[in-house]
Amino acid sequence: MEEMYDAYGPEKVIEVYNPKVGMRGYVVIDNRSLGPGKGGIRMTPSVSMEEVFRLARTMTWKNAISNLPFGGAKGGIIADPKQLTPKKKAEIVKAYGEAMKIVCPDLWVAAPDISTAEEEMRIFANAVGSNKACTGKPKDMGGLPHELGSTGFGVYHSALVALKHMGLNVKKITFAVEGFGNVGWFVSKFLTEAGAKLVGVSDSKGLIYNGKGIDFKKLADIKKKEGSVVKYPGKVMKDSEIVSLDVDMLVTAAIPDLIKPNDVDSVKTKLIVCGSNIAMSHETEEMLYKHKVLVVPDFVANAGGVISSYVEYISGNEKKMWKMVEEKITKNTELVLKNAEKKKISPRQAAMDIAVERVVKKCKTCRI
Ligand code: NAD
Repeated sequence: MEEMYDAYGPEKVIEVYNPKVGMRGYVVIDNRSLGPGKGGIRMTPSVSMEEVFRLARTMTWKNAISNLPFGGAKGGIIADPKQLTPKKKAEIVKAYGEAMKIVCPDLWVAAPDISTAEEEMRIFANAVGSNKACTGKPKDMGGLPHELGSTGFGVYHSALVALKHMGLNVKKITFAVEGFGNVGWFVSKFLTEAGAKLVGVSDSKGLIYNGKGIDFKKLADIKKKEGSVVKYPGKVMKDSEIVSLDVDMLVTAAIPDLIKPNDVDSVKTKLIVCGSNIAMSHETEEMLYKHKVLVVPDFVANAGGVISSYVEYISGNEKKMWKMVEEKITKNTELVLKNAEKKKISPRQAAMDIAVERVVKKCKTCRI
Protein backbone atom coordinates (compact mmCIF):
# COMPACT_ATOMS: atom_id res chain seq x y z
CA MET A 1 0.00 0.00 0.00
CA GLU A 2 2.87 2.39 0.78
CA GLU A 3 3.93 2.49 -2.86
CA MET A 4 0.65 4.14 -3.83
CA TYR A 5 1.71 7.39 -2.11
CA ASP A 6 3.98 9.51 -4.28
CA ALA A 7 4.63 13.09 -5.36
CA TYR A 8 1.14 13.58 -6.87
CA GLY A 9 -1.27 11.85 -4.46
CA PRO A 10 -3.61 10.28 -3.58
CA GLU A 11 -5.21 13.14 -1.72
CA LYS A 12 -8.03 11.16 -0.08
CA VAL A 13 -8.52 7.45 0.43
CA ILE A 14 -11.87 6.75 2.02
CA GLU A 15 -13.38 3.43 3.06
CA VAL A 16 -17.11 3.24 3.71
CA TYR A 17 -19.15 0.54 5.44
CA ASN A 18 -22.82 0.06 6.23
CA PRO A 19 -23.29 -3.24 8.09
CA LYS A 20 -27.11 -3.03 8.02
CA VAL A 21 -27.20 -2.98 4.21
CA GLY A 22 -24.03 -5.01 3.76
CA MET A 23 -22.33 -2.24 1.74
CA ARG A 24 -18.57 -1.87 1.72
CA GLY A 25 -16.60 0.30 -0.64
CA TYR A 26 -13.99 2.93 -1.28
CA VAL A 27 -13.29 6.09 -3.10
CA VAL A 28 -9.83 7.31 -3.97
CA ILE A 29 -9.46 10.96 -4.91
CA ASP A 30 -6.03 11.09 -6.42
CA ASN A 31 -5.41 14.69 -7.42
CA ARG A 32 -7.65 17.75 -7.79
CA SER A 33 -5.24 20.29 -9.24
CA LEU A 34 -7.36 20.66 -12.38
CA GLY A 35 -10.83 20.23 -10.84
CA PRO A 36 -12.96 17.76 -8.90
CA GLY A 37 -11.81 14.15 -9.20
CA LYS A 38 -13.63 12.34 -12.00
CA GLY A 39 -13.92 8.59 -12.31
CA GLY A 40 -16.41 5.73 -12.38
CA ILE A 41 -17.74 3.34 -9.75
CA ARG A 42 -16.67 -0.28 -10.18
CA MET A 43 -18.66 -3.06 -8.56
CA THR A 44 -16.82 -6.38 -8.33
CA PRO A 45 -16.29 -8.92 -5.52
CA SER A 46 -12.53 -8.44 -5.69
CA VAL A 47 -12.12 -4.70 -6.07
CA SER A 48 -9.31 -3.51 -3.79
CA MET A 49 -8.15 -0.14 -2.56
CA GLU A 50 -4.99 -0.52 -4.62
CA GLU A 51 -6.92 -1.28 -7.82
CA VAL A 52 -9.14 1.76 -7.18
CA PHE A 53 -6.06 3.89 -6.62
CA ARG A 54 -4.40 2.75 -9.87
CA LEU A 55 -7.57 3.56 -11.81
CA ALA A 56 -7.86 6.95 -10.08
CA ARG A 57 -4.28 7.79 -11.07
CA THR A 58 -5.00 6.82 -14.68
CA MET A 59 -7.93 9.25 -14.57
CA THR A 60 -5.64 12.04 -13.31
CA TRP A 61 -3.49 11.78 -16.45
CA LYS A 62 -6.38 11.06 -18.83
CA ASN A 63 -8.33 14.14 -17.73
CA ALA A 64 -5.18 16.25 -17.87
CA ILE A 65 -4.24 15.20 -21.41
CA SER A 66 -7.87 15.72 -22.47
CA ASN A 67 -7.57 19.27 -21.12
CA LEU A 68 -10.68 18.90 -18.96
CA PRO A 69 -11.21 20.74 -15.68
CA PHE A 70 -11.26 17.44 -13.79
CA GLY A 71 -8.82 15.68 -11.51
CA GLY A 72 -8.54 11.93 -11.04
CA ALA A 73 -10.69 9.71 -8.83
CA LYS A 74 -12.35 6.30 -8.80
CA GLY A 75 -14.91 4.46 -6.70
CA GLY A 76 -15.25 0.80 -5.81
CA ILE A 77 -18.04 -1.25 -4.23
CA ILE A 78 -17.11 -4.73 -2.99
CA ALA A 79 -20.02 -6.89 -4.15
CA ASP A 80 -20.75 -9.64 -6.64
CA PRO A 81 -23.51 -8.30 -8.90
CA LYS A 82 -24.26 -11.82 -10.17
CA GLN A 83 -25.26 -12.86 -6.64
CA LEU A 84 -27.47 -9.81 -6.01
CA THR A 85 -31.14 -9.31 -6.73
CA PRO A 86 -31.83 -5.99 -8.51
CA LYS A 87 -33.42 -4.74 -5.25
CA LYS A 88 -30.34 -5.60 -3.19
CA LYS A 89 -28.01 -4.07 -5.76
CA ALA A 90 -30.06 -0.85 -5.68
CA GLU A 91 -29.95 -0.81 -1.86
CA ILE A 92 -26.16 -1.14 -1.88
CA VAL A 93 -25.70 1.63 -4.46
CA LYS A 94 -28.05 3.88 -2.47
CA ALA A 95 -26.14 3.26 0.78
CA TYR A 96 -22.85 3.91 -1.06
CA GLY A 97 -24.24 7.19 -2.44
CA GLU A 98 -25.40 8.31 1.00
CA ALA A 99 -21.97 7.55 2.44
CA MET A 100 -20.29 9.53 -0.34
CA LYS A 101 -22.09 12.80 0.41
CA ILE A 102 -18.97 13.80 2.35
CA VAL A 103 -17.01 14.17 -0.92
CA CYS A 104 -19.54 14.06 -3.75
CA PRO A 105 -20.16 16.17 -5.84
CA ASP A 106 -17.70 18.83 -4.59
CA LEU A 107 -14.54 16.71 -4.61
CA TRP A 108 -15.63 13.74 -6.71
CA VAL A 109 -17.90 13.33 -9.74
CA ALA A 110 -18.70 9.66 -10.37
CA ALA A 111 -19.60 7.73 -13.57
CA PRO A 112 -20.45 4.16 -14.61
CA ASP A 113 -17.77 1.47 -14.70
CA ILE A 114 -17.87 -2.34 -14.46
CA SER A 115 -21.37 -3.47 -13.35
CA THR A 116 -22.73 0.01 -12.87
CA ALA A 117 -24.74 1.69 -15.63
CA GLU A 118 -27.28 4.47 -16.04
CA GLU A 119 -29.84 3.07 -13.57
CA GLU A 120 -27.17 2.83 -10.87
CA MET A 121 -26.21 6.43 -11.68
CA ARG A 122 -29.84 7.48 -11.13
CA ILE A 123 -29.85 5.80 -7.70
CA PHE A 124 -26.43 7.21 -6.82
CA ALA A 125 -27.30 10.81 -7.83
CA ASN A 126 -30.58 10.64 -5.91
CA ALA A 127 -28.83 9.25 -2.82
CA VAL A 128 -26.20 12.00 -2.94
CA GLY A 129 -28.98 14.50 -3.58
CA SER A 130 -27.39 16.20 -6.60
CA ASN A 131 -27.62 15.86 -10.37
CA LYS A 132 -23.91 16.81 -10.44
CA ALA A 133 -22.98 13.70 -8.41
CA CYS A 134 -22.25 11.67 -11.53
CA THR A 135 -22.36 11.49 -15.30
CA GLY A 136 -23.66 8.61 -17.40
CA LYS A 137 -27.15 9.26 -16.02
CA PRO A 138 -30.33 8.29 -17.93
CA LYS A 139 -31.52 10.70 -20.63
CA ASP A 140 -34.43 11.94 -18.50
CA MET A 141 -31.87 13.23 -15.98
CA GLY A 142 -29.84 15.02 -18.68
CA GLY A 143 -27.53 12.08 -19.41
CA LEU A 144 -25.57 11.63 -22.65
CA PRO A 145 -25.48 7.85 -23.26
CA HIS A 146 -22.32 6.09 -24.52
CA GLU A 147 -24.46 4.47 -27.21
CA LEU A 148 -24.24 7.77 -29.10
CA GLY A 149 -20.69 6.71 -30.00
CA SER A 150 -18.64 9.58 -28.54
CA THR A 151 -15.56 7.40 -27.98
CA GLY A 152 -15.55 5.99 -31.53
CA PHE A 153 -16.08 9.50 -32.90
CA GLY A 154 -13.06 10.70 -30.92
CA VAL A 155 -10.92 7.76 -32.09
CA TYR A 156 -11.91 8.65 -35.66
CA HIS A 157 -10.72 12.25 -35.24
CA SER A 158 -7.52 11.09 -33.59
CA ALA A 159 -6.95 8.80 -36.61
CA LEU A 160 -7.53 11.69 -39.02
CA VAL A 161 -4.84 13.76 -37.28
CA ALA A 162 -2.38 10.84 -37.24
CA LEU A 163 -2.95 10.13 -40.96
CA LYS A 164 -2.35 13.78 -41.81
CA HIS A 165 0.76 13.78 -39.64
CA MET A 166 2.07 10.86 -41.71
CA GLY A 167 1.16 12.54 -44.99
CA LEU A 168 -1.57 10.01 -45.79
CA ASN A 169 -4.90 10.81 -47.42
CA VAL A 170 -7.84 9.20 -45.60
CA LYS A 171 -9.54 8.51 -48.96
CA LYS A 172 -6.59 6.42 -50.12
CA ILE A 173 -5.84 4.24 -47.12
CA THR A 174 -6.72 0.72 -46.07
CA PHE A 175 -7.45 -0.04 -42.43
CA ALA A 176 -8.46 -2.81 -40.03
CA VAL A 177 -10.41 -2.62 -36.79
CA GLU A 178 -10.00 -4.99 -33.85
CA GLY A 179 -13.44 -5.40 -32.21
CA PHE A 180 -16.88 -4.48 -33.46
CA GLY A 181 -18.61 -3.34 -30.27
CA ASN A 182 -19.40 0.23 -29.26
CA VAL A 183 -16.00 1.72 -30.18
CA GLY A 184 -15.15 -0.49 -33.19
CA TRP A 185 -18.58 -0.04 -34.75
CA PHE A 186 -18.52 3.75 -34.69
CA VAL A 187 -14.90 4.14 -35.73
CA SER A 188 -15.52 1.82 -38.72
CA LYS A 189 -18.63 3.79 -39.63
CA PHE A 190 -16.97 7.22 -39.51
CA LEU A 191 -13.77 6.15 -41.29
CA THR A 192 -15.58 4.37 -44.13
CA GLU A 193 -17.88 7.39 -44.52
CA ALA A 194 -14.73 9.53 -44.86
CA GLY A 195 -13.62 7.32 -47.75
CA ALA A 196 -11.10 4.97 -46.08
CA LYS A 197 -11.15 1.33 -47.21
CA LEU A 198 -11.96 -1.16 -44.44
CA VAL A 199 -10.32 -4.50 -45.25
CA GLY A 200 -10.25 -6.34 -41.90
CA VAL A 201 -12.55 -6.50 -38.86
CA SER A 202 -12.46 -8.86 -35.89
CA ASP A 203 -14.69 -9.82 -33.00
CA SER A 204 -14.61 -12.58 -30.41
CA LYS A 205 -15.39 -15.18 -33.14
CA GLY A 206 -12.46 -14.30 -35.41
CA LEU A 207 -11.18 -11.97 -38.12
CA ILE A 208 -12.66 -11.35 -41.56
CA TYR A 209 -10.36 -10.10 -44.31
CA ASN A 210 -11.56 -8.81 -47.65
CA GLY A 211 -9.03 -6.95 -49.79
CA LYS A 212 -11.75 -5.53 -52.05
CA GLY A 213 -13.13 -3.53 -49.13
CA ILE A 214 -15.84 -4.21 -46.55
CA ASP A 215 -19.11 -2.33 -46.88
CA PHE A 216 -19.98 -0.90 -43.46
CA LYS A 217 -23.77 -1.11 -43.77
CA LYS A 218 -23.65 -4.70 -45.00
CA LEU A 219 -21.21 -5.62 -42.22
CA ALA A 220 -23.41 -3.97 -39.57
CA ASP A 221 -26.44 -5.93 -40.87
CA ILE A 222 -24.54 -9.21 -40.81
CA LYS A 223 -23.26 -8.58 -37.27
CA LYS A 224 -26.81 -7.81 -36.09
CA LYS A 225 -28.44 -10.78 -37.84
CA GLU A 226 -25.75 -13.46 -37.54
CA GLY A 227 -23.92 -12.35 -34.42
CA SER A 228 -20.42 -12.11 -35.91
CA VAL A 229 -18.37 -10.22 -38.47
CA VAL A 230 -16.85 -13.50 -39.71
CA LYS A 231 -20.08 -14.18 -41.66
CA TYR A 232 -19.14 -11.34 -44.04
CA PRO A 233 -17.77 -12.67 -47.38
CA GLY A 234 -14.00 -12.95 -47.30
CA LYS A 235 -11.16 -14.88 -45.71
CA VAL A 236 -11.78 -15.97 -42.12
CA MET A 237 -8.65 -15.77 -39.99
CA LYS A 238 -7.73 -16.05 -36.31
CA ASP A 239 -8.61 -12.90 -34.33
CA SER A 240 -4.97 -12.43 -33.26
CA GLU A 241 -3.83 -12.32 -36.93
CA ILE A 242 -5.13 -8.77 -37.18
CA VAL A 243 -1.84 -7.63 -35.64
CA SER A 244 0.13 -8.62 -38.75
CA LEU A 245 -2.29 -7.50 -41.48
CA ASP A 246 -0.70 -5.41 -44.22
CA VAL A 247 -2.82 -2.27 -43.83
CA ASP A 248 -2.07 1.45 -43.63
CA MET A 249 -3.71 1.74 -40.22
CA LEU A 250 -4.84 -0.58 -37.43
CA VAL A 251 -7.42 0.62 -34.91
CA THR A 252 -7.68 -1.38 -31.68
CA ALA A 253 -11.12 -1.52 -30.06
CA ALA A 254 -11.40 -4.69 -27.99
CA ILE A 255 -9.11 -6.59 -25.63
CA PRO A 256 -6.13 -5.57 -23.48
CA ASP A 257 -2.67 -6.84 -24.50
CA LEU A 258 -3.59 -7.47 -28.13
CA ILE A 259 -0.03 -6.74 -29.25
CA LYS A 260 2.66 -8.64 -27.35
CA PRO A 261 6.42 -7.98 -27.44
CA ASN A 262 6.83 -11.07 -29.67
CA ASP A 263 4.47 -9.60 -32.23
CA VAL A 264 6.50 -6.46 -32.84
CA ASP A 265 8.56 -7.94 -35.70
CA SER A 266 5.47 -9.12 -37.55
CA VAL A 267 3.61 -5.78 -37.40
CA LYS A 268 3.36 -4.45 -40.97
CA THR A 269 1.22 -1.36 -40.48
CA LYS A 270 2.95 1.96 -39.82
CA LEU A 271 0.11 3.41 -37.74
CA ILE A 272 -1.80 2.03 -34.75
CA VAL A 273 -4.56 4.10 -33.16
CA CYS A 274 -5.53 2.73 -29.74
CA GLY A 275 -9.27 2.89 -29.19
CA SER A 276 -9.10 0.14 -26.56
CA ASN A 277 -7.42 0.52 -23.19
CA ILE A 278 -3.96 -1.07 -22.76
CA ALA A 279 -3.85 -2.65 -26.24
CA MET A 280 -0.17 -3.26 -25.40
CA SER A 281 2.28 -2.68 -22.57
CA HIS A 282 4.26 0.55 -22.44
CA GLU A 283 7.38 -1.48 -23.27
CA THR A 284 5.74 -2.84 -26.44
CA GLU A 285 4.74 0.70 -27.37
CA GLU A 286 8.38 1.81 -27.03
CA MET A 287 9.54 -1.19 -29.13
CA LEU A 288 7.10 -0.23 -31.89
CA TYR A 289 8.32 3.36 -31.71
CA LYS A 290 11.87 2.11 -32.34
CA HIS A 291 10.48 0.10 -35.29
CA LYS A 292 9.07 3.38 -36.68
CA VAL A 293 5.44 2.42 -36.07
CA LEU A 294 3.42 5.43 -34.92
CA VAL A 295 1.18 4.47 -31.97
CA VAL A 296 -1.45 6.96 -30.81
CA PRO A 297 -1.83 6.05 -27.12
CA ASP A 298 -5.16 4.97 -25.63
CA PHE A 299 -5.60 7.88 -23.22
CA VAL A 300 -5.14 10.35 -26.09
CA ALA A 301 -7.27 8.60 -28.74
CA ASN A 302 -10.12 7.19 -26.64
CA ALA A 303 -10.91 10.21 -24.45
CA GLY A 304 -14.16 10.95 -26.34
CA GLY A 305 -16.17 9.22 -23.60
CA VAL A 306 -14.75 11.33 -20.81
CA ILE A 307 -15.14 14.51 -22.88
CA SER A 308 -18.80 13.59 -23.38
CA SER A 309 -19.08 13.14 -19.59
CA TYR A 310 -17.80 16.65 -19.12
CA VAL A 311 -20.45 18.01 -21.49
CA GLU A 312 -23.10 16.17 -19.45
CA TYR A 313 -21.59 17.62 -16.25
CA ILE A 314 -21.99 21.17 -17.56
CA SER A 315 -25.54 20.34 -18.73
CA GLY A 316 -24.60 20.53 -22.42
CA ASN A 317 -26.56 18.79 -25.17
CA GLU A 318 -25.63 16.25 -27.84
CA LYS A 319 -24.65 18.93 -30.37
CA LYS A 320 -22.19 20.48 -27.93
CA MET A 321 -20.81 17.02 -27.17
CA TRP A 322 -19.95 16.23 -30.84
CA LYS A 323 -18.30 19.63 -31.22
CA MET A 324 -16.22 19.36 -28.07
CA VAL A 325 -15.10 15.78 -28.75
CA GLU A 326 -13.93 16.74 -32.23
CA GLU A 327 -12.15 19.91 -31.11
CA LYS A 328 -10.42 18.49 -28.05
CA ILE A 329 -9.34 15.17 -29.58
CA THR A 330 -8.01 16.93 -32.69
CA LYS A 331 -6.07 19.51 -30.70
CA ASN A 332 -4.67 17.03 -28.17
CA THR A 333 -3.59 14.49 -30.78
CA GLU A 334 -1.92 17.23 -32.85
CA LEU A 335 -0.06 18.51 -29.79
CA VAL A 336 1.10 15.04 -28.73
CA LEU A 337 2.34 14.05 -32.20
CA LYS A 338 4.05 17.39 -32.75
CA ASN A 339 5.85 17.21 -29.39
CA ALA A 340 6.83 13.58 -29.95
CA GLU A 341 8.38 14.48 -33.30
CA LYS A 342 10.13 17.57 -31.99
CA LYS A 343 11.58 15.87 -28.90
CA LYS A 344 12.23 12.54 -30.66
CA ILE A 345 10.24 10.60 -28.07
CA SER A 346 7.30 8.23 -28.35
CA PRO A 347 3.78 9.73 -28.46
CA ARG A 348 3.04 8.10 -25.08
CA GLN A 349 6.05 9.76 -23.49
CA ALA A 350 5.09 13.08 -25.08
CA ALA A 351 1.50 12.73 -23.82
CA MET A 352 2.63 11.85 -20.29
CA ASP A 353 5.00 14.84 -20.23
CA ILE A 354 2.12 17.17 -21.18
CA ALA A 355 -0.30 15.61 -18.65
CA VAL A 356 2.22 15.77 -15.78
CA GLU A 357 3.18 19.35 -16.65
CA ARG A 358 -0.48 20.46 -16.65
CA VAL A 359 -1.12 18.86 -13.25
CA VAL A 360 2.11 20.06 -11.64
CA LYS A 361 1.62 23.64 -12.85
CA LYS A 362 -1.65 23.91 -10.91
CA CYS A 363 -0.80 21.61 -8.00
CA LYS A 364 -0.60 23.08 -4.52
CA THR A 365 0.17 19.79 -2.79
CA CYS A 366 2.49 17.99 -5.20
CA ARG A 367 6.13 17.41 -4.19
CA ILE A 368 7.92 18.88 -7.19
P1 NAD B 1 -17.88 -3.64 -26.32
O1 NAD B 1 -18.12 -4.65 -25.25
O2 NAD B 1 -19.01 -2.84 -26.84
O3 NAD B 1 -17.19 -4.35 -27.59
C1 NAD B 1 -16.10 -5.19 -27.49
C2 NAD B 1 -15.90 -5.89 -28.83
O4 NAD B 1 -14.70 -6.65 -28.77
C3 NAD B 1 -17.00 -6.87 -29.22
O5 NAD B 1 -17.29 -6.70 -30.60
C4 NAD B 1 -16.36 -8.25 -29.02
O6 NAD B 1 -16.88 -9.25 -29.87
C5 NAD B 1 -14.93 -7.92 -29.37
N1 NAD B 1 -13.95 -8.89 -28.90
C6 NAD B 1 -13.92 -9.61 -27.76
N2 NAD B 1 -12.82 -10.42 -27.75
C7 NAD B 1 -12.17 -10.18 -28.91
C8 NAD B 1 -10.99 -10.68 -29.48
N3 NAD B 1 -10.26 -11.61 -28.88
N4 NAD B 1 -10.59 -10.20 -30.70
C9 NAD B 1 -11.32 -9.26 -31.34
N5 NAD B 1 -12.46 -8.76 -30.84
C10 NAD B 1 -12.87 -9.21 -29.64
O7 NAD B 1 -16.71 -2.71 -25.74
P2 NAD B 1 -16.38 -1.20 -26.13
O8 NAD B 1 -17.18 -0.29 -25.26
O9 NAD B 1 -16.41 -1.04 -27.60
O10 NAD B 1 -14.88 -1.09 -25.60
C11 NAD B 1 -13.77 -1.60 -26.34
C12 NAD B 1 -12.48 -1.10 -25.75
O11 NAD B 1 -12.49 0.33 -25.73
C13 NAD B 1 -12.21 -1.50 -24.30
O12 NAD B 1 -10.82 -1.61 -24.12
C14 NAD B 1 -12.70 -0.31 -23.50
O13 NAD B 1 -12.07 -0.21 -22.24
C15 NAD B 1 -12.25 0.81 -24.42
N6 NAD B 1 -12.98 2.06 -24.19
C16 NAD B 1 -14.32 2.15 -24.39
C17 NAD B 1 -14.97 3.34 -24.17
C18 NAD B 1 -16.45 3.49 -24.43
O14 NAD B 1 -16.97 4.61 -24.32
N7 NAD B 1 -17.17 2.45 -24.81
C19 NAD B 1 -14.26 4.47 -23.70
C20 NAD B 1 -12.86 4.37 -23.52
C21 NAD B 1 -12.25 3.15 -23.77
